[in-house]
Amino acid sequence: MRVVVGGGTGFVGRALTQLLRSRGHQVTHVSRRGGKDRISWEELSRSGLPLCDAVVNLAGENVLNPLRRWSDAFCREVISSRVETTKTLAKAIAAAEQPPRAWVLVTGVGYYRPSPTAEYTEDSPGGDFDFFSRLVSSWEAAALIPGSPTRGVVVRSGVVLGRDGGAIAQMLLPFRLGLGGPMGSGLQPFPWIHIQDLSGIVCHALEKESVQGILNGVAPSSPGTSNGSFARELAAALGRPALVPVPGWAVRAVFGAERAVMLLEGQRVLPKRTLETGYHFIFPELPAALRDIVA
Ligand code: NDP
Repeated sequence: MRVVVGGGTGFVGRALTQLLRSRGHQVTHVSRRGGKDRISWEELSRSGLPLCDAVVNLAGENVLNPLRRWSDAFCREVISSRVETTKTLAKAIAAAEQPPRAWVLVTGVGYYRPSPTAEYTEDSPGGDFDFFSRLVSSWEAAALIPGSPTRGVVVRSGVVLGRDGGAIAQMLLPFRLGLGGPMGSGLQPFPWIHIQDLSGIVCHALEKESVQGILNGVAPSSPGTSNGSFARELAAALGRPALVPVPGWAVRAVFGAERAVMLLEGQRVLPKRTLETGYHFIFPELPAALRDIVA
């Protein structure tokens, strides 16, 4: 299969590209920078979609970049890097003479309202209560191509755990120094997925013709993980203590109140449809997922 991946140079994109190539697929990235097996967003808008069988979008400015202040300009970049790239790919798919068979977008579980008790499946309502939920709504709306023969799939991902980036890369140093711990009360749910499973779900969605619609990208045991239990498991995997809690005010001071919500609140999310479509998780449980990552 020939697969075009927007944002394929990033943390998730590198893992997905490796998996797709290992399964014999050809991958072309859409990127802001030139390079081998890459096209630019301008080229895509100008010349249309290269001949391909499937398209994925993973592009998005890193929301939790602690070096970027939460300003109006940054906020606009967070939105447009997701919504505009998705619109560009959807438009290119709609205009393609030979449309691809599958179109997969990765968004986030921020669609569901944070709650310590509610459990959400792909059928649960959401998408209309704060900045991130509305972002996910407009991001997913941008992917819609009415009347298109192309099969559409949206994977709502939890926090992606992997060795080479994402949340863990930022946490490893303090935890290795024995300075890690829960954030805020530590009681908030921590929806997570191992990077091999997120790549695996995207690949499953591309390869299996019957998969369509929303899939939650979280581990099956993720509803039972709190921020505190995650901190304890990460410390245990590293053989270090997890005694130093990070107070809520410090998280808000570093990230700003809007972004701090992502760390100080969370959702219990179940991958109900993902399992029903026949996906088998490689890392359903947190201890094994973390051992694999920090080993
Ligand atoms: P990355 O931060 O690694 O970024 C992915 C790619 O997006 C980059 O390689 C870059 O490609 C492109 N990009 C970054 N900023 C911009 C911008 N301002 N305009 C256009 N393109 C940009 O993301 P991840 O791989 O971690 O995540 C992939 C997707 O999954 C993202 O949309 C993210 O929101 C979503 N997601 C990720 C989670 C996680 O925990 N990592 C959790 C839930 C959802 P290039 O430089 O080649 O242009």
